[in-house]
Parts: sequence; C-alpha cells; structure tokens
Amino acid sequence: MPDEPQGATRPGRYQFTDEEIERFLAEKWMLEECEVCRQATVWGYFRPRPLLLITTSDGGNDTITGSLSFLRLSCNNCGNSKFFDAEVIKRWLDANPK
Ligand SMILES: [Zn+2]
Repeated sequence: MPDEPQGATRPGRYQFTDEEIERFLAEKWMLEECEVCRQATVWGYFRPRPLLLITTSDGGNDTITGSLSFLRLSCNNCGNSKFFDAEVIKRWLDANPK
C-alpha cells in the first residue's frame, strides 16, 4: 500500500512543533474536566520530547517487535493520562495545513 508522500516540512515523521501540537489539541480536545478526579484541570504534556514510544510484540513471546509513537497528556491534578497516536496527529496536520 503506497504511503503518503514524504513530508518535506517535518524533520522527522513525528517531530511536531509546539504550534502543531497546540493546533491539533485546539481542534480535538473537548474534555472539559478530568473523568477521574472530576476537576476542571489543566492537561499538559512534557517538553522537550513529548512523544512516548510504546513497545509492541507480535504476541508469540515476550520480545519487542516494534514500537508506536504517542503524545501523552496528563491531568495535572491526578496524573490520569491520555495517549494520542502520533500517526493520527500527523495525518490531521497534513490534511489541515496552517
Ligand atoms: Zn484528574
């Protein structure tokens, strides 16, 4: 399956700028309060490397066979965390250029 054209503007596939992350969240983030602690909290992500690599396995044994990239946001009050698939963020940014 052919992939989309290689992005010319981004240094790495998932190297988003702060502005890009803020623009994505402004469009997608609709949670007004944390569902765990019920506080109208501030959801934050960590700089300078906000993406989290989650390792994956093919299920055959306990070896790591790959990894996926996620942007993690956490509730500043209780630590409840959300994971946004970096591929989805990238696709949205490519489809919605500034
Ligand atoms: Zn919370």
